[in-house]
Amino acid sequence: MVYNFSPGPAALPREVLQQAAEEMLDWHGSGMSVMEMSHRGKEFMSILEAALQDLRDLLNIPSNYKVLFLQGGAIAENAIVPMNLAGLRSPSGQPRQPGVADYIETGSWSTKSIKEASRYCRVNVAASSAAEKFARIPARADWKLSKDAAYVHLCTNETIDGAEYHFTPDVAADTNNAPLVADMSSHILSREIDISRYGVIYGGAQKNIGPAGVTLLIVREDLLGHALPSCPSAFNWKIVADNDSMYNTPPTYAIYIAGLVFQWLKRQGGVAAMEARNIAKAELLYGYLDSSAFYSNRIAADCRSRMNVPFYLRDDTLNETFLAGAKERGLLQLKGHKSVGGMRASIYNAMPIEGVQALVDYLKEFEKKQG
Ligand code: PMP
Repeated sequence: MVYNFSPGPAALPREVLQQAAEEMLDWHGSGMSVMEMSHRGKEFMSILEAALQDLRDLLNIPSNYKVLFLQGGAIAENAIVPMNLAGLRSPSGQPRQPGVADYIETGSWSTKSIKEASRYCRVNVAASSAAEKFARIPARADWKLSKDAAYVHLCTNETIDGAEYHFTPDVAADTNNAPLVADMSSHILSREIDISRYGVIYGGAQKNIGPAGVTLLIVREDLLGHALPSCPSAFNWKIVADNDSMYNTPPTYAIYIAGLVFQWLKRQGGVAAMEARNIAKAELLYGYLDSSAFYSNRIAADCRSRMNVPFYLRDDTLNETFLAGAKERGLLQLKGHKSVGGMRASIYNAMPIEGVQALVDYLKEFEKKQG
């Protein structure tokens, strides 16, 4: 028995992998693997439609939002977002400040988004916690938003640094109704969200959705049709939406697995039930880290990620010994990102509380031996 704490590609529910294995050579009597099917044939269309409906049910997605399956991952979206939105006009029909977008900088991933978007629009960093090593989400009252930005961009869970928004910011009044755009790659489906508060939500699949290779985008319909002329057609959200995510061949197998994950989530009781479990898992792990002088987590208590828990040993010369001992016990992929060092436990939906308990037991044991 192993527990995989990888930040992504991450552990998938065992039941999903078992079902995929059983269906690998012959999907539902079709005589084909899902990988071999035409993306326009009735078999795959039924898989796609079920996946879309299950996701809509799980996230309670309002009918005026489109759900798109794209490729390129969240990193490609960092360019695709400004390419689709930088030309957006305000509701009065007046141009917004030409090509200005507000970004909130809260860690490595939002920093990357800022850098990439700067190639396509004028970026205003409206708030940043860089000076505090991204140990918190800047308070909404301190954000210096543009009056007429095309959009306001957030990364709502910073996978590397470990800070998460536990609030949905209201930016409309300060920005003349600029839409909120959120990179939710590493916590979508881990907690309830009010989709209607956002204009665009995007994320790579390889944490809480399925395998790498499919990018999820949820977009309010009025935000379609504003792409810059230079935007590639395969990344123009309106073209992709008009073609029901079939403008080019979609990543069919990744969508199929994502669909199995959505079915699994429904069997678990849906997103509200997952959120309750995720809160319990996070409390168990942070609770132990906080009680110990041997380990530390540097994120402000009200901004801590429930999905990605970076932590440090008091003596970092013990890091390799710690990781080797963890591996012996089947606790895998706990090494922190090279940019921040230390350790990181990613505890997405597919991580059961027993896995977090096994990690806490090991933390205790290691501390006793070395402390
Ligand atoms: N944003 C966030 C929050 C992420 O966690 C990641 C991947 N770890 C990315 C963007 C980049 O995703 P991809 O590599 O799929 O493009």
